[in-house]
Amino acid sequence: MAKKRRGRKLSKKEVKAIKKAEADAPVVVDVAPQKPRVTATIELPDVITVSEFAKLLALPVTEVVKTLFANGIMVTINESIDRETATLVADEFGAKVIGQSGEDVVKDTIVEKVTTKGSTPRPPVVVVMGHVDHGKTTLLDAIRKTKVAAGESGGITQHIGAYQIAWHGKDGEERDITFLDTPGHEAFSAMRAHGAALTDVAILVVAADDGVKPQTKEAVSHARAANVPIVVAINKIDVPGADPDRVKRELMELELIPEEYGGKTPMVAVSAKQSKHIDELLDVVLLVADIAEPTADPAGEFSGTVIEAQQEVGAGVVATILVQNGTLHVGDTIVVGSTYGRVKFLKTADGSRVQQAGPSTPIQLSGLNDVPAIGQIVSSVTNDRAARTVIEAKSTSGGTVVRSLGQVSQAIRRGIEHELPVVLKADVQGSVDAIRSSLEQLSTDTADVRLLHAAVGPVNESDVQLAVASSALVVAFRVPTLPAAAKSAEQNGVAVMSFDVIYALLDDVKAALEGKLAPEVHTLTVGTLKVLKTFRTTGTEKLVGGLVTKGELRKNAMIEVRRAGEVIGTAKILGLQQGPEKVDTVPNGQECGVLLGTKLTIQPDDYLDCQVEEAVTVRLGASAN
Ligand code: GDP
Repeated sequence: MAKKRRGRKLSKKEVKAIKKAEADAPVVVDVAPQKPRVTATIELPDVITVSEFAKLLALPVTEVVKTLFANGIMVTINESIDRETATLVADEFGAKVIGQSGEDVVKDTIVEKVTTKGSTPRPPVVVVMGHVDHGKTTLLDAIRKTKVAAGESGGITQHIGAYQIAWHGKDGEERDITFLDTPGHEAFSAMRAHGAALTDVAILVVAADDGVKPQTKEAVSHARAANVPIVVAINKIDVPGADPDRVKRELMELELIPEEYGGKTPMVAVSAKQSKHIDELLDVVLLVADIAEPTADPAGEFSGTVIEAQQEVGAGVVATILVQNGTLHVGDTIVVGSTYGRVKFLKTADGSRVQQAGPSTPIQLSGLNDVPAIGQIVSSVTNDRAARTVIEAKSTSGGTVVRSLGQVSQAIRRGIEHELPVVLKADVQGSVDAIRSSLEQLSTDTADVRLLHAAVGPVNESDVQLAVASSALVVAFRVPTLPAAAKSAEQNGVAVMSFDVIYALLDDVKAALEGKLAPEVHTLTVGTLKVLKTFRTTGTEKLVGGLVTKGELRKNAMIEVRRAGEVIGTAKILGLQQGPEKVDTVPNGQECGVLLGTKLTIQPDDYLDCQVEEAVTVRLGASAN
């Protein structure tokens, strides 16, 4: 049975107050649970970790994290917040803040924080997007060859998910440009969904003999949602019947106006197959990148993003990381998601081994103890112990930087955010146009709808990826959701709302816009394991063996530990093993080893209930009972 995690029963007095308020004015009453009050006066330094801050307030750290989340600040307990933020939150609890101690606060490891600021220019990072078969892969190959043709030493020998070229531009100056080698907007948004703001420029490839197609439009929406400037490569100009001018006219309908018509979107006609005008394209890419002046701090704190990762025979886990800030060295200890390790080697795309890698460098490394997910943020820590502490902190705080629609809705209600991002899919162009114009008028005093993408067709995976990356609501009007997209929406907690009637659609989007779409989180027990043996034990990790007696056990899930019928605490499943094999799930009736992240002491005959959280978006009418 599902049990409610959040929300509480209202007292009679509160119910009465709400009824009275409802009778006085037919508006919705915010019945958020009452916050604990703090009467203390506290002194705040410039920066403080969330856990230190909670200590100062004498409050449970979860209470503080909850309030920060509600204010749109996604932090984990070991992350730091600045004095201004802390003051606001302290104020919400009623605490008084005085003076400034000015002392440095012990700065623990910072979890999943991408720092890309700094004053040193770094090479721009470029992604290639566009409709299938319009020539993205061929263009990436042509650009890669440009470097070799230019007589550079080495040459790119292997595909590692990204590559860097040294480009002698018009002015003769040598400049590096980094290309992400996985073309496509879905991969782009999948990375963005983890919080990575990787790219500085998007090259939109449009075939001159085919023109603007559905995925061209999707790609434009994805780049725009991420605020990444677009350079258009009108490709295949060598093909008989190629009509670059027609392509430009079609692009203008997407509000991509070429510079020759007074617009701001650079468009370069190229032939990827014949390597024609690639030089011009690269010059334009650099010009556009220069407007944003990408910078980083090579001496600053290291952060990076996983571009590719796999298990390789003999080498263990091999991952490609794009360095975003700081410098990564051989021997550094790094943390990614729930895995960590010490960097054994660093290899560039031309196969050479290096000792260190700075900002915007794609670099292959080995040494992680498990395969990380693409798009996850990498940070470095001082040692293995610190790595495990960080992972444990992430497991107790959720550790994710993606915000749910419910959080956005709440942030709108609190006046912190002023936009509700929406992805719209509908049956015919007439519906798209009608709903688009109604949605655009649907603003409240404080918030507007921001339409990220509106198109004809069923809800597909690209729509869901875009919604995940932008914390958006997917609205489907008289169209189905494709099975793979439905699955992905469920896994990522994306709300897909389907309608047959326009006014019902507008009503519900309006409710979301007014911040009335609060999610409730239900915890479901999906399986139980009986502990038969305990093996290794450290302060924060326990390895146990047992039998699954119900449902299934899932890696990375949270568990409740039951002893003699009483829940004695929680833990996270860091790994599951059957014989020599690492597995992601273990079904009922089978034995397995479980690596738990917990400080609890586990004993034989304890039961581990494996739980998953299911966010149910509740509409106002439904939640008022
Ligand atoms: P992607 O799906 O966008 O990655 O497209 P590909 O790069 O795989 O290209 C699709 C097809 O178009 C392939 O057969 C390419 O050889 C061809 N192609 C790509 N660029 C050009 C070009 O500039 N001229 C011509 N004639 N064919 C091209």
